[in-house]
Amino acid sequence: MEPVAVERTIRHRIGGEETSGASTRTSPVYDPATGEVQAEVLLAEPSDVDAAVAAARGAFAEWSQASLSRRAKVMFAFRELLNRNVEELARIVSSEHGKVLEDAKGEVLRGLEVVEFACGIPHLLKGEYSDQVSTTVDAYSFRQPLGVCAGITPFNFPAMVPMWMHPVAIACGNAFVLKPSERDPSASNLVAELYAEAGLPDGVFNVVHGDKVAVDALLDHPDVAAVSFVGSTPIAQYVHARGTEKRKRVQALGGAKNHAVVMPGADLGYAADQLAAAGFGSAGQRCMAISVAVAVGDAGDELVDEVARRAREIEVGPGLEPSSEMGPVVTPQARERIVDYIGQGAEAGARLTVDGRELDVDGGGFWVGPTLIDQVSPEMSVYRDEIFGPVLSVVRSGGLDEAIELINRNPYANGAAIFTGSGYEARRFQREVEVGMIGINVPIPVPMAFYSFGGWKDSLFGDHHIHGPEGVRFYTRGKAITSRWPATQATPADAGSMNFPTSN
Ligand code: NAD
Repeated sequence: MEPVAVERTIRHRIGGEETSGASTRTSPVYDPATGEVQAEVLLAEPSDVDAAVAAARGAFAEWSQASLSRRAKVMFAFRELLNRNVEELARIVSSEHGKVLEDAKGEVLRGLEVVEFACGIPHLLKGEYSDQVSTTVDAYSFRQPLGVCAGITPFNFPAMVPMWMHPVAIACGNAFVLKPSERDPSASNLVAELYAEAGLPDGVFNVVHGDKVAVDALLDHPDVAAVSFVGSTPIAQYVHARGTEKRKRVQALGGAKNHAVVMPGADLGYAADQLAAAGFGSAGQRCMAISVAVAVGDAGDELVDEVARRAREIEVGPGLEPSSEMGPVVTPQARERIVDYIGQGAEAGARLTVDGRELDVDGGGFWVGPTLIDQVSPEMSVYRDEIFGPVLSVVRSGGLDEAIELINRNPYANGAAIFTGSGYEARRFQREVEVGMIGINVPIPVPMAFYSFGGWKDSLFGDHHIHGPEGVRFYTRGKAITSRWPATQATPADAGSMNFPTSN
């Protein structure tokens, strides 16, 4: 590609300093609403990653000794600063990602909830204690930080997804190196500034921008103890395999194909509202977006009519325009891919009820309108693959058993929802569907920060879900202590016993 003259370069934040390090390669950052390149971001070389890990390693020595109340105070200050910067962060996210401003604000606020969870770190790290497990012997356990933890994050939530990771890791006493998506990198630099202002020592939170070179350097670095990854399934699988081979703790959250089952007894108007919002919101670029509606029995025709009507009414326009309800997609490549999939659906015999390829918005930009494809069957590529665009497929189904079987055959297992008026159907669904997060009359069941987020099967590689209690466990390791304090240590009852210790 021809080099593009740009006025703004986005640099790394290492050890409290903005730096170019050894980076010479760059990647364009678009304004998806105009199609113009608005900045370039540096792509780290392995030596830049080494510098970030070294800064983190150095800072860990002090930060891991910081009292729980000091860590909590920094998190409270960070929360206040984030609160004051919600508008600014949302504007940055919207301008680089393309999503509408209100939606960008929503993602910042959901990330902020994880910071609020992390403010409770003194409570979250309370250990266990058993008095007198044997005569004069007590047993207890506590959890300690791992060291340097790394986060590798996707483009679709440039503020929220990193906040699923770093507040919990840092509150647990770790130092952190974040490698955000190169497509919308700027939010992470502002977050680094806010941490510094909140009193976090330099080097505890670092940002390296980059691509596969930076990711591989993090995965191979001997001083990185744990890696949290969120992104597409093939890269999640790769990150998990390479990271665990290097004996790191890895949680790698992958892609999704989320189904919403609509039962004949559901309130179809309500279900259609929710499906249109969950299918087309953020131009379908959410890992919890609904991309398949499973219409059971005679719910189908009315549901398709209702969703189609709403899809046609959605106001598509620039994310920063207050009247816009849906923005563009992130890059020209993303648009091309989505348009290609819509074509494949039509060729395979599905019915293009609303065709987003026809959308025309003035002023360039990467536009695809809401698209509704009816009569989709499971062997079609629009059903099988994660399209990650504003495309909602409708599969017709004979009954709840058939719908559950369809979901359970799908390799992805992030979220699933049911719209129903029956508690019996809802209860069966929540128990029998093999998916990590379930919504009952709720289309996007993203758990609150004090629960953990994560899918099953090809939507998660590793043993821990992210944030909430599982986040605390992921970023710490347990230690169990057995201690004896008799009146005198001179001649304890079993001194020198050759037998395996038992309680007495
Ligand atoms: P992506 O997999 O392309 O990129 C994610 C990260 O991996 C980025 O930081 C990127 O720089 C890096 N990366 C890309 N290619 C790489 C390679 N070959 N080797 C090493 N690193 C590489 O994902 P994306 O397009 O940025 O984001 C969209 C995807 O993320 C979708 O599949 C979506 O479902 C998924 N996602 C999942 C969740 C979840 O919670 N499960 C949440 C958000 C997004």
